[in-house]
Amino acid sequence: MHQPTEDENPSLCHYIFPATAGKPAHRCGSPALRGQHFCYYHHPTRRRVANPNERAARRVARQAFDITLPHSRPELNATLSEIIVRIAANRIDLRRAGLLLLALQTAARNLPNPPLPTRRQLASGMGKSLHE
Ligand SMILES: [Zn+2]
Repeated sequence: MHQPTEDENPSLCHYIFPATAGKPAHRCGSPALRGQHFCYYHHPTRRRVANPNERAARRVARQAFDITLPHSRPELNATLSEIIVRIAANRIDLRRAGLLLLALQTAARNLPNPPLPTRRQLASGMGKSLHE
């Protein structure tokens, strides 16, 4: 019985990989989608990454990083600054950034409030500005 060769078999992907250094152009050869000429990865309807740098940017955005757990308001501000810098530089997934900001908002509510100014401080600084 005649076995169809790779070129004759219609159930294999027809995509041709371009020649590279040391390797000539060759056919994909993966199983084609039913009734189609291409496999899942090479089918023309599959959405491709428009910009190769986009994939690298997404990888960077998903990378783990360490943040300081805020136990005081200065630490909270430092952690907040870290996240803001990462958002601005597009180095964090926006969904993860949103979750972190929400968690920091909750942490800020749970931190003790800063001490109220004393009467002396009010009289020397803030009190004057209120009456001027
Ligand atoms: Zn293929």
